[in-house]
Amino acid sequence: MIRVLTGLHVATAVALFSSAAASSAQAPAALKGYVSEDSPVIVLMHVRVIDGTGAAPAEDQRIDIEAGKITRVQGAKLRNAIPSNAKILDLTGKSVIPGLVGMHEHLFYTGPERGKDGLPFWIEMIDSGPRLYLAGGVTTARTAGSMEPYTDLALKKLIDQGEKPGPKLRITGPYIGDLLGIAPQLHALADPEDAGRTVDYWAAEGVTSFKAYMGIKPEELKVAIEHAHAKGLKMTGHLCAVGFREAAALGIDNLEHGIVVDTEFLPGKKPGICPAKEAADDFAKNVDIEGAPVQAMIRDLVAHHVAVTSTLAVFEISVPNRPALKKMLRAKDALSAPGWSTYLRVRSSIAEENNPQSAISLKKEMQFERDFVKAGGLLMAGCDPTSFGGVLPGYGDQRGVELLVEAGFTPLEAIHIATQNGAVYLGESDQIGSIGVGKAADLVVVAGNPAQNIEDIENVQLVFKDGVGFDPAKLTQSVQGLVGQR
Ligand SMILES: [Zn+2]
Repeated sequence: MIRVLTGLHVATAVALFSSAAASSAQAPAALKGYVSEDSPVIVLMHVRVIDGTGAAPAEDQRIDIEAGKITRVQGAKLRNAIPSNAKILDLTGKSVIPGLVGMHEHLFYTGPERGKDGLPFWIEMIDSGPRLYLAGGVTTARTAGSMEPYTDLALKKLIDQGEKPGPKLRITGPYIGDLLGIAPQLHALADPEDAGRTVDYWAAEGVTSFKAYMGIKPEELKVAIEHAHAKGLKMTGHLCAVGFREAAALGIDNLEHGIVVDTEFLPGKKPGICPAKEAADDFAKNVDIEGAPVQAMIRDLVAHHVAVTSTLAVFEISVPNRPALKKMLRAKDALSAPGWSTYLRVRSSIAEENNPQSAISLKKEMQFERDFVKAGGLLMAGCDPTSFGGVLPGYGDQRGVELLVEAGFTPLEAIHIATQNGAVYLGESDQIGSIGVGKAADLVVVAGNPAQNIEDIENVQLVFKDGVGFDPAKLTQSVQGLVGQR
């Protein structure tokens, strides 16, 4: 509070101080309905700390939070004085992890079912998206492509001003490339100059990163990257016409989804052409993750400091009967009735078809992600709430962490990937992504011990963003039935 007052006229400062003292709360009035812990000074007592660095959990700890920051992390038994105005929360049996840094997030959802000859369409999750991210423990969300960049930017502003609940948003501009007919809502590039113009325009509008999309040609990607880098902004991509090694050579910063979408191993792949289906079939049948070409690609990405975003939750839904239906009950509550029935219908058609390809591809992707990390690569995680539906903000992020554990990472490594690694990529690791003195109090309190049982990451009790404790139940109750077609 004191820092905020620095430099203010004394009379104003006194007035502000007394109004702050009158209300002990620190959450803006508009957020009070979603908040359960609102004291300016909070002490989390007897809590297990999983700090996001990958270090072993520290048992029976105490975390002091003041004015939105972590001011102390120590053993609960040490006898440092507790601040006189502190609210003390006894968290015996609970764990605290850093707020998740979701790196493949969207603020839109799979659109309504199309009529005969209908065009594809995506709908903005203007209320439900931000609330579900926060309720799921995602305190920072980088979008990875936008359908409505102006809406995304406006949402960010409303959240930053404390008028709406939601994570700290890092907004990516509209997808850049040829959208291959997937989304008439978006601009298809005419040529490389158009790519540069598009980047410049949206950077001026306030987006802080970009995502290239499948049909983008090498020359277009090159110019887009140059324009982004000239502004100190980063470029990620869900590529197809351009292979991973080619993109790394062009200077891309991040690749989405992993090797499942890398087309470079398809024999006879033509430059600048996206052979999505053929490459996916060939990947499942013929690509060997342990083979020399893939391992050379991995080394190349690491050498070029290209990060990879894991999106296992959205791949999993294409595998017959995955995830277990009981895992979907929370999503069912948040989805509209048509949204849920669309999900169930597609789910059962995938089960009926029972094609083994998606399970093979998921397994290979997991193997790739392990090898990429082993080689020194920066792996991050996000939920990607797209495809045919069923992957929801927040819940999908939790599922992604569970799938990283299925992939062979330890729970501590998986949490590290979903927290600190994203913060490192964003250049914000001094503030977010791990638990330490001086950092923002972006913390998720969960019942149980996710270091032993990763599914405990779903038992979110409280989500602190800058020291304000949001109640996940209040957030999710406010969006029941809002996701999907209505
Ligand atoms: Zn996506």
